[in-house]
Amino acid sequence: MIGDILNLHLDPGPGALVHSINEGLNPQKLNAVLVSHSHPDHYTDAEVMIEAMTRGMTRKHGVLAAARSVLRGNSVVEASISKYHQQMVEQKIEALPKAKFNIADVSVSATEARHTDPDAVGFRFTTEFGDFAYTTDTEYFEDIARYYQGLRLLILCEMRPSGKPWKGHMTTDDAVKIIERTRPQQTILTHLGMSMIFQGPAREAKLIEEKTNVPTVAAVDDMSVEFGEKITLQPRRARTQRGLRDFF
Ligand SMILES: [Zn+2]
Ligand SMILES: [Zn+2]
Repeated sequence: MIGDILNLHLDPGPGALVHSINEGLNPQKLNAVLVSHSHPDHYTDAEVMIEAMTRGMTRKHGVLAAARSVLRGNSVVEASISKYHQQMVEQKIEALPKAKFNIADVSVSATEARHTDPDAVGFRFTTEFGDFAYTTDTEYFEDIARYYQGLRLLILCEMRPSGKPWKGHMTTDDAVKIIERTRPQQTILTHLGMSMIFQGPAREAKLIEEKTNVPTVAAVDDMSVEFGEKITLQPRRARTQRGLRDFF
């Protein structure tokens, strides 16, 4: 979420609605839903979030920016958001790699990803405080670093620890290569797979930090990030005690 102007949900996977409410966020205040590709850990609550954003499908509202596969399907996956939900947003954007669009006062560009959904894209956000980006699921490829130059914050999907590659995903070794070539001010590792969890994500983050000298942390549940003059990370968001009636 960015200030009061742009409230976006990026890759609403399983339980996103319930987790949002538990965090004290109000999905009815969303004005954008972004979906990077058509795999269930990234899209299952997209329709639910569109329902919240459009007040139960009673008014056209907000932006849906999603990979081509999410909107239309392709040779390996079905479309993951129904036509019924797609037509309830004010603006629908097919996020092809290198596409640029604006949501509120933030400009967004889709970055290339190489994954088992061939239409997968990451997103780069340009704000008054500089740029941050989210890679989505991708494997390392020669040109990847050019999408992430000049960032303040890189949110990197790292499925696997060092030495355990898996096609379509990144390891700690790949993260080191990208970070060395892009040198963001801060990196956050997310999308941590089971072998990463068993290995210890904090340990892998420390390994990256030692090799690159770029501050790197592994995301934890409930983590909050303030992206302003400074980048402030809080491992656990102070939960606000809110009841449902606060939303109406
Ligand atoms: Zn995926
Ligand atoms: Zn995934």
